[in-house]
Formats: sequence, structure tokens, C-alpha cells
Amino acid sequence: MKKIATPFFTAIILASSVLQAQYNKQIKQMAYADSSRLVEIFKDLHQNPELAFMETRTSGIVAKELKALGYEVITGIAKTGVAGILKNGNGPVVMYRADMDCNSVKEITALSYASTKTMKKEDGPEVPVMHACGHDAHITWLLGVAKIMMAQKSQWKGTLVFIAQPAEEVMLGAEAMVNDKMYEKGVPVPDYLLGMHTWPIPVGTVYNGIGERMAGSDQLDVTFYGVGGHGSSPHLAKDPIVMGSYAVTQYQAIISRSIAPQDAAVLSVGAFQSGIENNVIPPSALLKISLRWFNEKDRNTLLDGIKRVNEGIAIANNLPKELYPSIRMKSRVFPLVNDTAMARRINSSLATFVAPENIIVNTPAIMASEDFHHLVIGNKKTVYDFIMVGTANGELVAKAAQEGKKYPFFNHNGNYQVDLATIPLGTVIGVTALFELFKK
Ligand SMILES: [Zn+2]
Ligand SMILES: [Zn+2]
Repeated sequence: MKKIATPFFTAIILASSVLQAQYNKQIKQMAYADSSRLVEIFKDLHQNPELAFMETRTSGIVAKELKALGYEVITGIAKTGVAGILKNGNGPVVMYRADMDCNSVKEITALSYASTKTMKKEDGPEVPVMHACGHDAHITWLLGVAKIMMAQKSQWKGTLVFIAQPAEEVMLGAEAMVNDKMYEKGVPVPDYLLGMHTWPIPVGTVYNGIGERMAGSDQLDVTFYGVGGHGSSPHLAKDPIVMGSYAVTQYQAIISRSIAPQDAAVLSVGAFQSGIENNVIPPSALLKISLRWFNEKDRNTLLDGIKRVNEGIAIANNLPKELYPSIRMKSRVFPLVNDTAMARRINSSLATFVAPENIIVNTPAIMASEDFHHLVIGNKKTVYDFIMVGTANGELVAKAAQEGKKYPFFNHNGNYQVDLATIPLGTVIGVTALFELFKK
């Protein structure tokens, strides 16, 4: 029999949607009232970027702020990781994660708060550093969200866990926090894990599709060994620069000739380091490689292909076995797959203040990767959702479109910027999503 809403139930539904609207307004007011404080925090973080596992200043700020708000704080997880916990009655356990690290990129924006810092990398040189992936905004959102969730704790029930994670860029931080026994040290295992990332689409737009969203990835180093010598006498040496150069181009044939054309995979050599002088053939060449894939079969094809190319080059150069190239596997993450029900719930809650056409769910998975879900990869009960939040100035996006560019700037470029209007808006998005997850 068809059910017809009685006036009584219709009145209740109307009353609850009026309450919801009032509540959204209140959250928005709180976030915007906190905006100038949050923008100052953001600018400070932006001017003081820190590389993976060296985020001591940033994690100190997070710990101090969360403690001052009244969260139970655990510090020093995997060196710089921080957890802030609030047990607030019976209800779901929800974890909200932000990453802290920056990139070895020289900032070229003309922003008054641009980074001019350098840092010494663990594996060598002093490098310019910049938040070129927006992790400074992620931490700022976390602090804005934490303040409102604490102030509004009479309005929700459950356990809220904030995680400030080190070393996302090297894809090791999440796993390192788990391996450093964060769950044994008192961090509750979550039912839901939520994360948000800046993305160079207009402020007020979000990508939150379901299913596979981001590629799996490996980061590995290949070292070619040769025999150093005089640049004038290559026949008396074995030149690792020539070997490495062949490798860079031959690797691309793995993608074009060995991966099925319907599959998506990427192999990028992000660094080729060898030699110092014009007239010296160096003894070795280092290639830093990043792989992207969506299944184990393609991952194995890429790794086997790299090994074969390396050995083929070694044979062609008549190297003795002891000088064959070495491979060092540095990190690995699995593809990121958003939970369908969780993403849909969050999208419907966001639709109360983001125009529904700006909540975009049908974008294809991207080849970028994350280690966010590795916080819960061993926990069968946890589902997760990772939202891409538009952080580009709308006028810059429109100008880029006129110039035929897809984005005005892109993550990891020195021109990457987060529009300040996103600071309070991202806070509202985070709070709204959390409130939704704490509902029954
Ligand atoms: Zn990044
Ligand atoms: Zn990032």
C-alpha cells in the first residue's frame, strides 16, 4: 500500500529541516568568526614548511592547540605524528586526518607570505621547501574543525580522533604511525576515516566520487654502477650516465608496450643524479622513480620491466655481475577507494550549503596517490572517504580556462596556491561531514 505522509509527520520533517538549516548557519558563523585566526595560522604554516618526518614545528603547533581545546593528546607517534582524542559518549568512532609535510619545491608565487625556506634533506642536499600540495591548509582545517567540534560537543555523541600525520609526500607516514603502535598507545580504532585534500578547482567546488579515486604507487630508486674515469677516454671507463639515459627512455616503453592500453599506469623519473665535473665520468647514476597503477598485475609488469631494462643495459655495456644496477624499494601505497555509503551521506550533508552541481561525483580516478587509507588498512571495520576540496581562486580558474589550460596551477608546482576563502569554507565542510558521521 502506498504510504502517504500525514500532516503530523510532514510537520516533523519540516521542523527538522528548519533546525538543520539553522544549525548549518550556526556552524558557518562559527567558522567564519574564527577565520582571521585560522588564516594567520595558515600563513604561518605556509611560511614555515617542513619536510617528511621533520615536521617538529608544525606538530608542536597542532599538539599545543588541541591540548588547549581540551583534547587528550598523544605526540611523537612515528617521530612527529599527533593524535587528539575526545571521548564524548556512546556513538561511532570517527577519525579525521590531516597531513603535515611539505615538498622540496622552490616557491615562485608572489604571495606576501611565500616560503623562502630551505631544509636539509635526509638523503643529502639543502633544498628549497614549500607547501606545494596544500598540507598547510589541511592542518589549518583540522584546527578549525577541532575548535568547533569541541564547542559543539553537546550536539554529537561518539569518539572523535584527529590525526596530524607526518610524511605523506614520501608515502610512509601513515604506515609509520600504525607501525609505531598508535592503536596500542591509546588511539581508538575508527569506524569512519575522513580526509580532505586541496585541489586546484574553484573554491566552493568539491570532488567526492565513490569507488576507486586514486592510484596505487611505488617510489623506488635505481642506481646504475659504472667505472669512473677521464671524460676523454670513455673506452677505459663504464659510463653510468649513458646507461641511466637509456633507462629513462626505455622505461617508457614498458608503459606503451607492456601495459594493456585500456589500463592506466604511469612511470615518472623525478630525479637523475650523477656526476659533478665536465670531464669526469662518474662511478654511478641514481634515478628516483615513481610508479602509478590500479592493480597488482600492472604493478608487477612495471617492476619486472624496470628490472629487465636495467639488466639489458648492464649486459649491453658488458658490466660484470657485481656492477649490475640495484633497486631500492622505498614506499608503496594501494589505490584509494572511497566507501559508497559514506561518500553519499557526506555529499548529501554538504548539499545543505554547497550548490549540488558543485559536488562533483563523476570524475575519473586520478593518477595521484595518497597514504591516508594506510592508517586503517589492517582494520576491517573501518570505511573511509577522501574529499578533494576546491582551493583555487575562481577568477584564476576562469583565466586559465580562457588560455586553454585545465588548471591555473597544479600541486607540486612552485606556483601552487590555496585561496584564503577556502580556509573557513573547508572548516565548514569538515565539521558538516563529521556531524553527518556522528548521526545514527
Ligand atoms: Zn603532494
Ligand atoms: Zn598532498
